[in-house]
Amino acid sequence: MTCQLPLFELDDPRSNTHDPIALLREGAALVLSVSGGKDSDAMSHYLLDRRAKEGWPGAVMMVHADLGERRVEWHQTPEYVRSFARRKGVTLHVVRWSKGDLVDRIWQRYHANPDRPCWPSSSIRYCTSDLKREPISRWLRKTFPSGKVICAIGVRAEESSMRAKKETVVVRKDCSAPTKNRLVLNWLPIHDWTEANVWDCVRRHGNIAHPAYGLGNTRLSCALCVMASLNDLTNGAQHNPHAYREFCRIEAVTGYSFRKDFWLSDLKPELLPAETLAAVREHQGKSISAASVLVGAR
Ligand code: SF4
Repeated sequence: MTCQLPLFELDDPRSNTHDPIALLREGAALVLSVSGGKDSDAMSHYLLDRRAKEGWPGAVMMVHADLGERRVEWHQTPEYVRSFARRKGVTLHVVRWSKGDLVDRIWQRYHANPDRPCWPSSSIRYCTSDLKREPISRWLRKTFPSGKVICAIGVRAEESSMRAKKETVVVRKDCSAPTKNRLVLNWLPIHDWTEANVWDCVRRHGNIAHPAYGLGNTRLSCALCVMASLNDLTNGAQHNPHAYREFCRIEAVTGYSFRKDFWLSDLKPELLPAETLAAVREHQGKSISAASVLVGAR
């Protein structure tokens, strides 16, 4: 009887010292996590070039988490991601939350407890954990029953202080299973790249990027991301009016604004049905009168 010793221990602090490049040279599979944005595009160009040059022998594929083809993502994103994978000659796998899209998830949270704000936020990013991370992890576990997998993600330090603090190699614990000899690493290969490096790489590879950039977006995210700049939100609403109306309907029914003190419905009210706008105005009126009562009580 052979003794199956695990290749590693999940809680061993040395787990995060794995070298992704060495593992790829030895045959680990490479999974490129793609969003349609410039960072994951540039990362894919860079790693696929390097794979071809160095002859990494393992499998390569792309994975994309679709948060809502019709009413959450920029409407060009699904086709953009498909055509990017075709262009690079890599198989694409699209994963989704099992119970619907992000709009469904927001409603589900609201109905579970109408007394708390239903929107995701920078501190409660259930949009990312439930609709991106978990479906991708489920797919990784199913696709790779055992072996070593490097999951490359195009996160850069320059994007935010939170991202700057991220470790560039970590064991993906919800996918790794020492007893099955399955090790999955999250790797941020372009963590130290600047935005200029990214655009330079995109230019050198045919200068094709998601149409949202040409329309003035600085970043690509969901069409209406809770963390987006005003510029990107305005663009998102303007060019994805269907998504905009769905999101504003949530404000109208629940009375919770998209962000603290920021009503999405105020951005492009001309795109909204009269009843949505009327309901939002009523909620805003109530919060204004509540605020006046508080001020008067001081
Ligand atoms: S893009 Fe924004 S709203 Fe969409 S999943 Fe990411 S953080 Fe959430």
